[in-house]
Amino acid sequence: RAKSLQRGTLHFFDKGLNERLDARKKAERELRAALATNQFELLYQPQISLPGGAITGVEVLIRWRHPIRGLVDPDEFISLAEETGLIVPIGEWVLRTACSQAAKWNDLTLAVNVSPVQFRKGHIAATVREALEESGFPPDRLELEITEGILIADTETTLNTLNEIRKLGVRIVMDDFGTGYSSLGYLRKFPFDKLKLDKSFVRDLGQNPDADAIAHTIIDLARTLKITSNAEGVESQTQLDWLVQQGCGEAQGYWFARPLTYSDVDQFVAAFKPGVAKAEEGGLSSA
Ligand code: C2E
Ligand code: MG
Ligand code: MG
Ligand code: MG
Repeated sequence: RAKSLQRGTLHFFDKGLNERLDARKKAERELRAALATNQFELLYQPQISLPGGAITGVEVLIRWRHPIRGLVDPDEFISLAEETGLIVPIGEWVLRTACSQAAKWNDLTLAVNVSPVQFRKGHIAATVREALEESGFPPDRLELEITEGILIADTETTLNTLNEIRKLGVRIVMDDFGTGYSSLGYLRKFPFDKLKLDKSFVRDLGQNPDADAIAHTIIDLARTLKITSNAEGVESQTQLDWLVQQGCGEAQGYWFARPLTYSDVDQFVAAFKPGVAKAEEGGLSSA
């Protein structure tokens, strides 16, 4: 009796849950199939050094070309990939593919986003080493972007892994800085080479005193630590002027270029006028 009651109860309460589980299973199957059938694509967003305005590198950003939904942004599938562990093989694919594609761009650095889950569960240092060996991409032109989420758990292991990666000659970048569990203590303990100011602060520059103060503090902090600062999400000349005036090291954003397809990067680099930290009509658009 207890058993049937239990089952009945479950059935009664869990109809919505079951549907959600089904949808999730379906999404997971689709994501797995996406990896197996090459539905992921890589876009590259130029990074511009300040104040000179030269293109110094690109950040690689994943997209999913879904057979029905079309081009899907990472915000719609990265969490599921993390929850299912699929981020490990997906992240590995990103690293290998980006390193082999970027090998043909002389002098450009390549920034690759690495999920905290991939960092903990994958053999990230070995994956990076293999991707470099396989592609011939120079380690000193590779940057891994990680978020503050990485610093919460098991600092000892994290520190070892970061150091192992740095020994390869690869740089470590703190992405979305200021949005997470920032603690200044972490910055002393962990060997970061660059701080990326989150685009939510850049968006509000000149309009919100808090954003100004935070941006100012982060740029200053990077200078004190003798590392580079990067502002992401730059969309206007006003924001750019503000950042240049504060001594920010680099910028990226729609003002210069949207994320570009692999083949558009060459054209963009060729057409870009160095010395002018400004793009014509808000940058070249693509994809
Ligand atoms: P992120 O690393 O902070 O990347 C910056 C995001 O801002 C990108 O969104 C980029 O397209 C967008 N962006 C660039 N310039 C502007 C601008 O001027 N204005 C605005 N509003 N947005 C701008 P995207 O490509 O949708 O990627 C979102 C996030 O997904 C990334 O944030 C990153 O955390 C994650 N992601 C992307 N590719 C990968 C990947 O290969 N692996 C992992 N683990 N995560 C990835
Ligand atoms: Mg990033
Ligand atoms: Mg970011
Ligand atoms: Mg982000």
